[in-house]
Amino acid sequence: MKIAMIGTGYVGLVSGVCFSDFGHDVVCVDKDPAKIDMLESGQVPIYEPGLEDLMAKNVAAGRLSFTQNLKYAVKDAQAIFIAVGTPTRRGDGHADLTYVFAAAEEIADSLEDYAVVITKSTVPVGTNRKVKQLIQKAHPGLDFDVASNPEFLREGAAIDDFMRPDRVVVGVQNERAADIMAEIYRPLFLRDFPIVTTDLESAEMIKYAANAFLATKITFINEIAALCERVGADVKQVSKGIGLDGRIGNKFLHAGPGYGGSCFPKDTKALARIGQEAGMPMQITETVITVNDETKRRMVDKIIDLCDGSVSGKTIAVLGVTFKPNTDDMRDAPSLTIVPALIGGGAKVRVVDPQGLNEGEALLPGAHWVEDAYKAAQNADAVVILTEWNEFRALDLKRLARRMETARMADLRNIYSPKDAKKAGFVAYCAIGRRGFG
Ligand code: NAD
Repeated sequence: MKIAMIGTGYVGLVSGVCFSDFGHDVVCVDKDPAKIDMLESGQVPIYEPGLEDLMAKNVAAGRLSFTQNLKYAVKDAQAIFIAVGTPTRRGDGHADLTYVFAAAEEIADSLEDYAVVITKSTVPVGTNRKVKQLIQKAHPGLDFDVASNPEFLREGAAIDDFMRPDRVVVGVQNERAADIMAEIYRPLFLRDFPIVTTDLESAEMIKYAANAFLATKITFINEIAALCERVGADVKQVSKGIGLDGRIGNKFLHAGPGYGGSCFPKDTKALARIGQEAGMPMQITETVITVNDETKRRMVDKIIDLCDGSVSGKTIAVLGVTFKPNTDDMRDAPSLTIVPALIGGGAKVRVVDPQGLNEGEALLPGAHWVEDAYKAAQNADAVVILTEWNEFRALDLKRLARRMETARMADLRNIYSPKDAKKAGFVAYCAIGRRGFG
């Protein structure tokens, strides 16, 4: 099968590389010349474990190539995936579909023979029908179908998620398109990963419902954690106690500084907007958005409390600024709320992150970047663990505490325990949803 992948970001590049590994012929397109230059020279513009090797293998096998020329990529393709960004539109929370529609128009201009145009980007219900109308209008008489194929991969584990998905969701209008989609995903089908085939609208809704549900689960445990702090319970024990209930499940029950990333914040906002426009407000999702914003802000208060009521003039070492480990993605990361608030409060902030520098430097003006946690902690007044990179999971706490001016820790990922911190010489320690000291 010849496939064109429009957009080589976190989703498009991983999908394109994995489809080529299935044995398909894939041409990946991006309008960003810098990205295509890097890809053509064998470099991966994003940090995603395993991607560079898998890409090199399939380029060498002649199944994978990159271009800026959409027309060339689309010309002989039987399947054209749209995997461009759908960020939050300024002002109203709606998903910005400018890139999707622009890609659809270019596809309409370039297509000659029958193909399925598949939207992989996360798009509001009704978008695939609009893509279809747009192509029909731009290229009357063209024989084509549209399909919705939302993506569920997680950054940091994207290849494994793509190769071993819990399910593949495909929304189609007829069997012709369903057969092409089945052909594309056949290698997974043979390995018994379920393909859920639906109509277009249901496939579009599945993606938003899944992300809003997961964001709700995280926000629920974060709110329980805040209550645990008030009433003297330990959220780690509570998570374990409820997560062992098969109806609840133990995933997404780790309390933390609030969700961030390229999907949950924008997709919850977009779902809320879809609800408002349909006259069916998504009250739970709207509350989740508010509570998550409050959670991030509460982290700032926690750090200020830890520093005896003020961070002014204090040096704070922040460990981890990407929205989660194993990615360089900074989009809507809690650090973007917390670090500027600390700097605004008069703190000198040092940050360290294994992959965050490229994206993060411009986003966190005034922060000083250092190479490792121990350098960051030198003469500092507090250490804040914000992203649970492996590098921060097994720190030598004694060594860290010894270097600090005042050994205080805000453990916003609950990696360590009050006991560990006390034994290492910390004079103050706070975590999420459990007792600290100092
Ligand atoms: P991204 O911003 O990393 O990548 C988008 C790419 O598309 C960019 O490189 C951009 O240059 C390119 N592009 C835009 N318009 C183009 C055009 N007309 N022609 C060619 N290239 C074009 O975005 P992403 O994180 O990969 O997300 C893409 C979509 O997938 C979004 O809708 C997102 O919600 C969804 N999604 C993302 C994730 C994730 O973890 N990042 C997971 C599941 C779904």
